[in-house]
Amino acid sequence: MNTKSRELFQKALKLMPGGVNSPVRAFRAVGGDPVFMAGGKGSSIVDVDGRSYIDYVLSWGPLILGHSHPEVVEALAKALERGTSFGACTEGEVELAERICGAYPSIERVRLVNSGTEATLSALRVARAATGRERILKFEGCYHGHGDSLLVKAGSGVATLGLPDSPGVPRALAELTVTVPFNDPAALEEAFRVHANQLAAVIVEPVIGNAGCIPPQAGFLEKLRGLTAGQGTVLILDEVMTGFRVAYGGAQELFKIQPDLTTLGKVIGGGLPVGAYGGKASLMDWVAPAGPVYQAGTLSGNPLAVTAGLKTLEILRRPGTYERLEGVSNQLAGGLATAAAKAGVPLTVNRVGSMFTCFFTNESVADYASAKKADTSRFARFFRSLLGRGVYFPPSQFEAAFVSTAHHESDVATTVEAAAKAFEEIW
Ligand SMILES: *Cc1c(COP(=O)(O)O)cnc(C)c1O
Repeated sequence: MNTKSRELFQKALKLMPGGVNSPVRAFRAVGGDPVFMAGGKGSSIVDVDGRSYIDYVLSWGPLILGHSHPEVVEALAKALERGTSFGACTEGEVELAERICGAYPSIERVRLVNSGTEATLSALRVARAATGRERILKFEGCYHGHGDSLLVKAGSGVATLGLPDSPGVPRALAELTVTVPFNDPAALEEAFRVHANQLAAVIVEPVIGNAGCIPPQAGFLEKLRGLTAGQGTVLILDEVMTGFRVAYGGAQELFKIQPDLTTLGKVIGGGLPVGAYGGKASLMDWVAPAGPVYQAGTLSGNPLAVTAGLKTLEILRRPGTYERLEGVSNQLAGGLATAAAKAGVPLTVNRVGSMFTCFFTNESVADYASAKKADTSRFARFFRSLLGRGVYFPPSQFEAAFVSTAHHESDVATTVEAAAKAFEEIW
């Protein structure tokens, strides 16, 4: 079929690696050409061929209010008139920092950056400086951006494409990254025994989103907090996805875990490029110019991005927001599970708040190894069938789907109906 999307993709393939600016957009795991988007409003997006979809990608998490929220658009229009960037201090940065510190008691000081990748690699640098240690620990299937040290057994597009640890990462650096399965306290204890007092940091997605949605089992994060505290290892909760998503105060509020450092991104930029890292003052005061750890950014704290973030957080804080998100998400996850059961399709739906994944397996999914047991070819057919019915899911089994405050019961009903037909089709 000759669509405008197809035409654009053929052109893009000659101009950009794989035709895209971020790998999972290429639909490699689900087949077919990627859909080029032209606009979005509320829970739906429209492609360049005029087809409309209920959107569960939501720009991979940032759009917790849905597309083009009128109040965010209005705030951005006003900010735009004042100028796009000054490379100097602005009032909005202070307000956003105040809002973040207020929502996350573990964050005493925060530094704004432009992406989640920048946030995690900066947080690691601080942890290494403050501890004087080089080794770090991460969990299999967790994705923390594309920094060198963190591309070892990584999730997201790395998992989707089935890539080995990325070429181009110096071995000397990769060797400093210890990996352990998620939700495996015994393996964690063993790693802390083998690398006793050598780990600068442990970085973790407190709810994995980048191997599909995988919640922490009871006691796992507490165990992690205990082991890190006992050895002076910096605990970094990577809440780039979960921050202001699973609760206003993130996974650390939901699971009552106080990290030493936190990384944020996605929601705090309201759809514009932002990241942040913050935590204890004693750690953050290592960062230049307060301390010697260098980290900088020409566009950091960009006025437009800060405006979108501030307005988004202001709206999220209104009473009932997370209860409504929970209600709609629960209805959706339940509807999908029921429809699959009716069609006899083995499906495990993992969900924490408004992030979820439909894994095509009967077994529970608690770590990367169990996620990989899901039937990815069946997922691909499910994805394509939904796409054809006007429902846009993440184009990979190993990504979380998201619900926004703009998704209503009618969207859920339409989606469950489409899924029911898709299940029949793929079985
Ligand atoms: C998306 C994500 C990142 C990377 O953020 P970018 O803005 O894409 O660089 C890091 N960590 C987690 C948990 C993420 O979900």
